[in-house]
Amino acid sequence: MLNFTVGPVMSEPDVLEIANRSTPYFRTPEFSEVMLDNERMILEMLNAPKNSRCVFLTSSGTGAMESMVMNILNENDRVIVINGGSFGHRFVELAELHDRPFTEVKCEFGKQLRREQLDGLEDNTALLINMHETSSGVLYDMKMVAEFCKENNILLLVDAISSFIADELDMTELGAAAVITGSQKALAVQPGVAVMALTPEALRRIDENKEVCMYLSLKQALQNGQRGQTPFTPAVTTLLQIHTRLQGIISRGGVQEERNIIASVAADFRNGIKDLPFEFVSEFPSNAVTALRPVNGHAKEIVRILKDEYQIWGCPNGGELADEVFRIGHIGHITKEDNQKLIDALHDMKERSLL
Ligand SMILES: *Cc1c(COP(=O)(O)O)cnc(C)c1O
Repeated sequence: MLNFTVGPVMSEPDVLEIANRSTPYFRTPEFSEVMLDNERMILEMLNAPKNSRCVFLTSSGTGAMESMVMNILNENDRVIVINGGSFGHRFVELAELHDRPFTEVKCEFGKQLRREQLDGLEDNTALLINMHETSSGVLYDMKMVAEFCKENNILLLVDAISSFIADELDMTELGAAAVITGSQKALAVQPGVAVMALTPEALRRIDENKEVCMYLSLKQALQNGQRGQTPFTPAVTTLLQIHTRLQGIISRGGVQEERNIIASVAADFRNGIKDLPFEFVSEFPSNAVTALRPVNGHAKEIVRILKDEYQIWGCPNGGELADEVFRIGHIGHITKEDNQKLIDALHDMKERSLL
C-alpha cells in the first residue's frame, strides 16, 4: 500500500528497522542519552529560545493538547481559541472540559484567519491555535497571530502537530510559549509519542500552576526529563525511532532541507491534478496536506476506490464533510514517483467516470 494519509505515514528504512527489534530496557544511562539528544535536536530544529525544555509524552497528539490546556493554563486565564475545523474544535472542547474561560474565534472552513477577527480580543491572556488546521489544510497566518499576541502580551500556544518539519516554524520568531507535535505526522515514525517544547515563560507557568493531573503532568515530565527519563514507561521504540529520524534529518542538511522536499512533493502533486475535477479547499495550504473537494461529490467513495482498487490510502474527512472533502498528505517517506502513481490512479478513475 502507498500511504498518502496525514498520519501515521510511511517511514524510512532505518526507522522501520528499529521496530523489528525487541524493545530495550529504558532505565539506563544509554536510553537517557538518547532522550537528552532528542530534546536537544527538537529544540534546535524549532529554534527555541535559550533555557527552553522539551518533553516527550507517551500519548497521541491530543494528549499534548490536553496537557497544554491543563498544565500551562489555569482557571484565571482568558483564552482565545481559533476554530477552523475539527482540530480547532478539539481545543474548544478541551477548554470547556477543563474550565478554562475562553472566546471561540470561528474561521470558515478552508479560509484564512484575518486580523479583524481578533479585534476586541486584546484583553485576553492566552491564545490556542492549530498552526495548520489539518482537517481543511489551512496554514494560518502565524506572523499576524504572533504580532497580535506580542502586542497584547498574550501567551501563544501552538499545536504544530502536522506543521513541524513540514512548514516554516521558528519558536523564537513567533514568540510562542509552547509548541507541540506528534510522532506520526512529519516526524514519520510510529504513533505513540507527543512532543512539547516549552520556553522559560511556559515553564514558569507550569511551576506556578497547581497540579491537576498525573499521567499528563508536565511538572513530572520536566523533572524526570532533566536526567533523560520519563515518569512512566514510555513508547521506547517510538522514541528510538525519533532519535534516528532526527539524526537523519540533520545529516541530510537540516530541517529546512527536509521542508523543501515536502514542499516540492506537495507542489508536484498539486500540479499533477490540475486538470481533474477537484477544487482546492484551502485558501492558504500547508505543505503537509492538500484538501480536495471533488466537483461531483463522493469523496468517501473516491477514498475507498483508491484503497481497494489502486492500493493507495488517501485520507477521508470526518463528520458532515465526509462525502464532500478528502485529503492527500505529503509527509512521510513519499517520493515524486509515488505521487505519479497516485496522479495516474486519479486520472484512470476520471477515465472510468468515477470522479
Ligand atoms: C493529527 C493532529 C492532532 C492530533 O491527533 P492525534 O490523533 O491525537 O495524534 C492534533 N492537531 C492537529 C493539527 C493534527 O494534525
